[in-house]
Amino acid sequence: MVRDLGQSPRASAINTATLGFQAPISEAINAVARAGFGGIAPWRREVEGGDVKTIARQIRDAGLAVTGYCRSTYIPAVTADAVRQNIDANLTALRDAATLGAKTFVMVVGGLPQDSRDMGAARRQVKDATAELLITARKLGVKLALEPLHPVYAAERSCLTLLSEALDWCDEIEGVTTSPQLGCCIDVYHVWWDPNVMRDIARAGKSRRIFNFHVCDWLVPTEDVLNDRGMMGDGVIDVRGLREAVETAGYKGLVEVEIFSARNWWKRPMHETLAAARKRLASAT
Ligand code: ZN
Repeated sequence: MVRDLGQSPRASAINTATLGFQAPISEAINAVARAGFGGIAPWRREVEGGDVKTIARQIRDAGLAVTGYCRSTYIPAVTADAVRQNIDANLTALRDAATLGAKTFVMVVGGLPQDSRDMGAARRQVKDATAELLITARKLGVKLALEPLHPVYAAERSCLTLLSEALDWCDEIEGVTTSPQLGCCIDVYHVWWDPNVMRDIARAGKSRRIFNFHVCDWLVPTEDVLNDRGMMGDGVIDVRGLREAVETAGYKGLVEVEIFSARNWWKRPMHETLAAARKRLASAT
């Protein structure tokens, strides 16, 4: 039975990137809570350099869950030293994720290092680093959510592009377990085109590895693959069908709205974007 997000807005969350980082995190927290959502996913740029404990308390006091903490420092690099630095930056962020009470640390793993043409090496570096991060994540009680990105980002942002590949990595790194600490973040923007997406969502559910679910839409035409995402219902993604699949597969977490939209939603006041998201969660998600 798929949840009615119109009746239960607290089953949904806002990723703060949707609001365009136009206000300090404290204002975003209040706006998201006031709009009736049940959770928030902050970004490191809003948290690092601030007092993490105070931000954590404010989110708790506002009655919001932290669905995920965005996002990992890209891992692949040319030298071992540089990879080490990237892992260390992620270990620090993991500790902040724990302080925030985040359910997951979202891993956008990185693409090819400069001047490299070796996707295999990049993927090996990411897998090794993930295995190491998983040890600390387990101690801290934060889950690691690998987010496969649309292949258009393979060079610059993510050598991990398929949900099936993310699940293979989970099996390879963590093995089969009834309470996985390593899983995936399924973002409709990245998986909607995949002919095997329904099969892989079912597989992810069976292994209890759906940790986050992100929604937005793919606009036609898309002017910029990074910052021209649409509100649910404005594009070509079967958001509703994907949500049904994810929930049928056993996902009970929040439905998180994540819209990078430089030309539209980021230009609007936060309350307007939040109200539109509430409406479209009910009618087009
Ligand atoms: Zn996402």
